[in-house]
Amino acid sequence: MKMKAAVVWEKDGDFKLQDVELADPKATEVLVRVVGAGVCHTDATARDQTIPIQLPGIFGHEGAGIVEKVGDAVRDVKVGDRVVLTFYTCGHCPTCRSGRPTGCDNYGPVNFSGRHSDFTHRHSVDGQEISSFFAQSSFAEYAVVDENACVVIKDEDVDIGLLGPLGCGLMTGAGAVANCMKPTVGSSIVVFGCGGVGLAAVMMAKVVGCSTIIGVDAVPSRLEMAKELGCTHVINGKEVEDIAGRIREITGGGADYSLDTSAAIPLMTAAINCLRVYGTAVVVGTSGDKVVPVVMQDMIMGKGRTLKGCIEGDADPKTFIPTLVSLYKQGRFPFDKLIVEYPFEQINQAFEDSKSGKTIKPVLRMAKA
Ligand SMILES: [Zn+2]
Ligand SMILES: [Zn+2]
Repeated sequence: MKMKAAVVWEKDGDFKLQDVELADPKATEVLVRVVGAGVCHTDATARDQTIPIQLPGIFGHEGAGIVEKVGDAVRDVKVGDRVVLTFYTCGHCPTCRSGRPTGCDNYGPVNFSGRHSDFTHRHSVDGQEISSFFAQSSFAEYAVVDENACVVIKDEDVDIGLLGPLGCGLMTGAGAVANCMKPTVGSSIVVFGCGGVGLAAVMMAKVVGCSTIIGVDAVPSRLEMAKELGCTHVINGKEVEDIAGRIREITGGGADYSLDTSAAIPLMTAAINCLRVYGTAVVVGTSGDKVVPVVMQDMIMGKGRTLKGCIEGDADPKTFIPTLVSLYKQGRFPFDKLIVEYPFEQINQAFEDSKSGKTIKPVLRMAKA
């Protein structure tokens, strides 16, 4: 079928809205009419080729919409279902079978292959094949995705077009707290970087009962939002020289947990040094090949601390995303406060506003629900 999609033709190039040919879904795949799609930092890193997806490509991996067609072998999803799209997982490798799909053996090989799960393309322009992203490519009017990447949303009273960011960025922040740290009630936590991922972590820290929640960022408007969403303290990283020292002061000796979403070397270092004895630091920022100096004796072993990586919030999307929707409906996870909507045609503006920090979480609106 023909549809409009945003194609990137060259490194750092603009998104060009144009007609693209989309193939039919294969046996385990479904065709989704995209209603909305979140703009994520990871899309920008593919466009600038930090993640080297072969160009031309169609990005977008936080889509949400309505199922219009299903392949012959699809079991869990039916035509008319409202779905949030998430990353591809195979469902049958040992890690998937252990209940932790974010560690799927086929996660990297498929999601970053520029192709779908059978390593063939679904998109083309005048016969030229176009790369996909996360086996999804939701910066488009339609997406073909594996049924494993579809999370059915049963709640009819939520705007499906807003929910796309739950499939990646917001799940990452909220899951880092709920699934990876599992803080006990009354714990203290520091969140470095108050973008979409960090603020999702702040909201979840409040849900799970952390009593001291500290947000660190350099943009005053984001720190204001952090306070509105649950931070008991905020630190402007530009104004405070010894951030870790300030946190030890606020918490009376150090925080129980810290989360780095910034991928900035000084902040990743502070995320360890701000912890109390037996504290845990979790990192989710995409830091490429940056090297963070960690003095094992003094920073980790001698303090009994834990340093943990976390992929996509360590979440099983099929259960965690409906949980986030429930919390949203109860007013306990008000992620819509982070979102500014843009018509699909304004995709380049949305990326600019995300980069400058003007908009915390842009969502592109392709169609009415
Ligand atoms: Zn797997
Ligand atoms: Zn993302």
